[in-house]
Amino acid sequence: MQFRDVVGQQAAKAGILHAVQSGKLPHALLLLGREGTGGIPLALALAQYLFCENPSKEDSCGHCPACRKVVRLEHADLHFSYPLIKPERIKGDNLTAEVFGKDFRKFIHQNAYDNLYNWLQYIEAGNKQGNIPAAECRSIIEKLNLKPFEGDKKVLILWGAEYLQKEGNMLLKLIEEPPAGTHLIFIGSEAEEILPTILSRVQTIRLPPLRMEDISGALQQKGIAQDARSASLAAINAEGSFSEAIRLAEGGGEDLFPQFRDWFNALYTGKGIFLTSFAEQLSKQGREGAKAFLQYAMHLLQAALVQHYAPGAPLPFPAEEADFIRRLAGHKSTGVESISAMSEALAHTAHCIEGNANAKIQLHALSIQLMRIARGQVSV
Ligand SMILES: [Zn+2]
Repeated sequence: MQFRDVVGQQAAKAGILHAVQSGKLPHALLLLGREGTGGIPLALALAQYLFCENPSKEDSCGHCPACRKVVRLEHADLHFSYPLIKPERIKGDNLTAEVFGKDFRKFIHQNAYDNLYNWLQYIEAGNKQGNIPAAECRSIIEKLNLKPFEGDKKVLILWGAEYLQKEGNMLLKLIEEPPAGTHLIFIGSEAEEILPTILSRVQTIRLPPLRMEDISGALQQKGIAQDARSASLAAINAEGSFSEAIRLAEGGGEDLFPQFRDWFNALYTGKGIFLTSFAEQLSKQGREGAKAFLQYAMHLLQAALVQHYAPGAPLPFPAEEADFIRRLAGHKSTGVESISAMSEALAHTAHCIEGNANAKIQLHALSIQLMRIARGQVSV
């Protein structure tokens, strides 16, 4: 994986490259970001850059023997650690990452943006909770204390830092005084769930949710989405996660705009009959379908607010949506307060539906509320 293959995260990439080039890369890093923001891809790009025999200022070369070994996840000095489940065949306190090494490589090759839940299901965890056991911590210490096999560096990528429980304290000495040329890259998503003793000893690099334009560009470039419109639609609802965007794009990413446009028009014209059938139809799409629609609508309203304050700001939306957003932002009788109130009402309804409230009743109530806001009948 090269930096150029990592979706978005420009600030993190630039910071890491600058640190490596100025010889100030901390020996223990924590890449902290929600799932789908690119912890593993970025860690792999950094490892490849460190091992590359011919790196440029911006990236590893991608074709030297060291690069090729990292791409195959088979570099002898690149080690991985991740949450594990104890299979029946392993007796005693003997569970290390090696047991699932083949599975891990296959899983990451399929999709380096995939999440820990799917990983644990991949190794058939079922309802069992994964962990990084004491034997694995001992194995990490052992591996990193050996001399490098191929050059002068060793890298450990540990995915799921929050899975390190008290056994993780065994690693503190290693983190504080790693053997020469050793780099530890932890990947985590929730700082509060990571051992404070570890958190205080690593340098944290935050990975923010990915920008919509980065997601939609990458979906097209990697050939995951079929066209620009379906890429943008998946990006709108992916909440900054590339793994979620892949899931949405592969699912065909239903075009929500026609339904949204008709609904919004009915709100302004007060077509009660349409609003009743809208609630009925959308509730038939199930809880997830209704939530996806509301989330999509919220994105459009949020974008209209931004557009109101910064007219002409770039709109990473397909043409139809962008046109709607501009018109709503410039609408004479719909002020900022109304758009904010509509957005809040949508969020509230999504929350109620999430909590298993009757979707049809909630959606109908929402339509009535939005209609009154649109027609200026409620003070906001
Ligand atoms: Zn190279």
